[in-house]
Amino acid sequence: MTPRRIQIFDSSLRDGGLAPGSVLLPDDRVEVALELERLGVDVLEAGSAADVVGVRAVAEAVERPVVAVFARPTQDDLDSAGAALFRARRSRIHLSVRSDEADAVRWAVEAAAARAHEVQLSVEDATSADPAAVAAIFRAALQGGAVAVGVGDAAGSALPSRLAGLVAELRAVTPVTLSVHCHDDLGLAVAGSLAAVEAGADQVECTVNGIGERAGNASLEELVVALRVRRDHYEVETGVDTSRLAAASRVVAGRTGWVVQPNKAVVGANAFAHEAGIHQDGMLKDERTYQIIDPGEVGVRMTLPLGKHSGRHAFARACAERGIVVSGDELNAAFKRFKQLADFGGAVPIDAVFEEVTA
Ligand code: MN
Repeated sequence: MTPRRIQIFDSSLRDGGLAPGSVLLPDDRVEVALELERLGVDVLEAGSAADVVGVRAVAEAVERPVVAVFARPTQDDLDSAGAALFRARRSRIHLSVRSDEADAVRWAVEAAAARAHEVQLSVEDATSADPAAVAAIFRAALQGGAVAVGVGDAAGSALPSRLAGLVAELRAVTPVTLSVHCHDDLGLAVAGSLAAVEAGADQVECTVNGIGERAGNASLEELVVALRVRRDHYEVETGVDTSRLAAASRVVAGRTGWVVQPNKAVVGANAFAHEAGIHQDGMLKDERTYQIIDPGEVGVRMTLPLGKHSGRHAFARACAERGIVVSGDELNAAFKRFKQLADFGGAVPIDAVFEEVTA
C-alpha cells in the first residue's frame, strides 16, 4: 500500500516570526526560506500581508515550495498579499477568518484567487466553534475555489481527542486538502497535530524548533520524526529530508535568535547524549537500547559525554579512543580522579584526568 502523503506547511517565517521581540529582516527570511526549501517543506508561509518586502524577497528566491502569505479578509490585506507574491512560481494566499466571519468568506476567497495561484481558507478558532458553522465556511471557501481549508486551534486549548473528532467530521465533507494549525500552550501541539493526521488531515502547519507566539507552534522536526519513526502506525510519509533537520534548526535559531533548549526532542543538544553509566553501558552494547531515533537520520551524532553519572566502562572506552592505555591500579586511580573532577559538574575532558594523575 502506498503511504498517504502529508503536506508540511511551514510557518517559521510567519507564525514563528510572531514570537515576542522577533524581527526578521528580508535577508534573514531568504536565508531561512532557502534552508526550508532544502529541507523539503511543501508550503512555505513567508510572512503576513504586512511583510511585503520580505515576502517578495522569498518569493523571488525559492523555486520548489508553494510560497504562502497570511492575510485577513480585507481589501488592503488581499492587495498587499497579491503584490508580495507577484513573482512566486507557485503562490498561495492563506486567508484566515474567525468563525463569526462567514459572510466575508466567499468574497474574500474569490478575491484571493484572482491574486494568487492557490487559496487556503482557515478558521482560526475552529476547535472552539460549532462544527456545523465551520463546515458551512469550508463549503463557501470551496465554492470560491479554495484548494485547502484549515482547522485552527489559535488558543492552543484543544485536546488531541477533540481535534481528531472535529477533523474526522470535517474530512467527510472536505474534498480538498484539510490542514491543522496547533499551538503549544498545553504542550499538546504535536500530539494534536498527530491525532488530526490519524483522523484524516493531510496537511500540518508547523514551525522549526516549535517557535511562535506564546508557547509556540507544533514543532516541525518532532512531527516529521514521529511520523517517520512510527510509520508502522500512521502509514504516511512527508517530503522532508530528515537528514537536514539539524541544519534547519541551527539556521532558524541563528536567524531568529531563539535558542533551542538542550532537552528539546530531536534537535536539542542533549537529545542523543547519554551520560549515565547504566545508559552508556546499554548504548555501547546496542544503540537501540535507549534510542528510538537513529541520530544519523536527523543529521546529528550520538554523544556519550563523560560526567558525574558515567561509569568505569565508558571511561575506559573513552581512554582507549584517545589512545591512552591504562589498566589495573593505573585505571583505578585515573577513574577515581575522573570522578573527583566530575563532582565539580559538567563534562570532564579525558586529558584533564591524566594531566593531574601523571603530574
Ligand atoms: Mn497561529
